[in-house]
Amino acid sequence: MSYTRFLEYLDKDKIRKVDLYDNGMVAIVEAVAPELGNRVQRVRVQLPGLPEELIRKIKAKNVDFAAHIPQEDPGNVVLNIISNLAFPVLLLGGLYFLSRRTIGGPGNPNNPFNFGKSKAKFQMEPNTGVTFNDVAGVDEAKQDFMEVVEFLKRPERFTAVGAKIPKGVLLVGPPGTGKTLLAKAIAGEAGVPFFSISGSEFVEVFVGIGASRVRDLFKKAKENAPCIVFVDEIDAVGRQRGTGIGGGNDEREQTLNQLLTEMDGFEGNTGVIVVAATNRADILDAALLRPGRFDRQVSVDVPDVKGRTEILRVHAGNKKFDGDVSLDVIAMRTPGFSGADLANLLNEAAILAGRRGKTAISAKEIDDSIDRIVAGMEGTTMTDGKTKSLVAYHEVGHAVCGTLTPGHDPVQKVTLIPRGQARGLTWFLPGEDPTLISKQQIFARIVGALGGRAAEEIVFGSPEVTTGAASDLQQVASMAKQMVTVFGMSEIGPWALIDPAVQGGDVILRMMARNSMSEKLAEDIDRSIKAISDKAYEIALGHIRNNRAAIDKIVEVLVEKETMTGDEFRAILSEFTEIPAENKAALSTPTPVGV
Ligand code: ADP
Ligand code: MG
Ligand code: ZN
Repeated sequence: MSYTRFLEYLDKDKIRKVDLYDNGMVAIVEAVAPELGNRVQRVRVQLPGLPEELIRKIKAKNVDFAAHIPQEDPGNVVLNIISNLAFPVLLLGGLYFLSRRTIGGPGNPNNPFNFGKSKAKFQMEPNTGVTFNDVAGVDEAKQDFMEVVEFLKRPERFTAVGAKIPKGVLLVGPPGTGKTLLAKAIAGEAGVPFFSISGSEFVEVFVGIGASRVRDLFKKAKENAPCIVFVDEIDAVGRQRGTGIGGGNDEREQTLNQLLTEMDGFEGNTGVIVVAATNRADILDAALLRPGRFDRQVSVDVPDVKGRTEILRVHAGNKKFDGDVSLDVIAMRTPGFSGADLANLLNEAAILAGRRGKTAISAKEIDDSIDRIVAGMEGTTMTDGKTKSLVAYHEVGHAVCGTLTPGHDPVQKVTLIPRGQARGLTWFLPGEDPTLISKQQIFARIVGALGGRAAEEIVFGSPEVTTGAASDLQQVASMAKQMVTVFGMSEIGPWALIDPAVQGGDVILRMMARNSMSEKLAEDIDRSIKAISDKAYEIALGHIRNNRAAIDKIVEVLVEKETMTGDEFRAILSEFTEIPAENKAALSTPTPVGV
């Protein structure tokens, strides 16, 4: 969004939230777009210099805002691994977590731009109206919570036999998996009020404010017991203390201490149950997890096929579908989708159906919505020319290298219709929910990801290669690095060389970990990573060279048709060469490798 447009939106009260990055040079804003049926969009705005006047304006408009210091936080290494290796989650997971993370990340009180978020202290809902029926696919978590509901409803049953009611439950899981929803459902089922606050709201520029908010919150909660106190994003306040190299964080520590004091202070049986949510339990301060505090942990995860079907059923309830739509098929096609993604998918499909003037949602709208959620908005088609031909060769390069390397997922379609950032896309279909991935499979993905650049180089010559391969190369680097340092899949051997907690943590901690390694080992790691990508690139170049005639023919058809199914693609390729059997069939969800 342009700066002027942003100001215009701000004037019209269409901006809901502003996050400043890069010393105020860049803002990520949440805008309500009337053109899109008032849906909330997150967009990036480049700001012209120090935005003091802008900040005044934002404050005058009472818009929620925060500033963030530059931090390189690649997130939970486990999430990274999942998003890199479970191919369906690759783009989707990657983008999704990244945007959540940067936007939801904690403000830093040492940053002069952080004037505190909003005035909102905490919210209280007397009745959430959410029940366990609204939450699907997380049966174990629900089971755990039934018990908590019992405590709230009939505490005397438990106190009579001398049982201590738990004070805190920690919900751990990736974004969008229904943590907030579950907490609300507990309150709804037990018929008690729901107090909520987000950890990032505690973190203020003035030392002491967070702590006093905690005090206020618990005071109100005790007056309204029995009730649920929900602390979202608890990692914002509850990070391990003393790890912040380069200055501790007084404010956060005070807030955390206050939270601990409050939790210790009330008797187990006052009827206040604290539910906290985080997507990273590994970075929480150990004090939080001690008995008598958040001694129960419930994890919710991205749902499996069965869970996805159930979640879809919950959200399909109020929508109309054509006979050709099957929730089971949607569930199969969406590995890696969270509950929030699935809800969003059905909603997008409904909006599309409405825009197309249909009375019910058909399979076409579902398909288009999946594509859009995974890869972004469809752009306008390229006109014929050198760029189009280059993108075609690049994509066909991915498709051919993937298809000819044993262990690669089959191609579902190749398209030159741009989507999101990508100029063209090759979609692959993972066979099943990929949770265990072999060395050969990862290697095949590296070869496939390098196929785009390899085709550019061979067809157009090395001076003509483009920036289009940047994200491919990033994925390659990350997969190769994980093969060596996390999965023990190199000649260095089965040795975990990087502690995930360190890798996910501080930049400085990571540097220190590297410095504590022997120089020889650090060199070996670099060499092994490079050897993997070099070898994969050789193979990719070989596939392109050996199949030039097939590639030229496929590109010709693709430029003409713009989209080609996996079957059409394989039909042409197999006229020229043998395709490994396992790379032929296509089962569930497409995952794109885009330019
Ligand atoms: P989290 O707090 O884990 O980030 P939320 O609880 O805010 O996720 O989920 C956002 C929305 O996604 C919910 O309001 C709901 O519509 C949908 N959703 C997420 N998980 C589920 C689930 N397990 N069952 C039904 N709907 C879900
Ligand atoms: Mg939430
Ligand atoms: Zn590419």
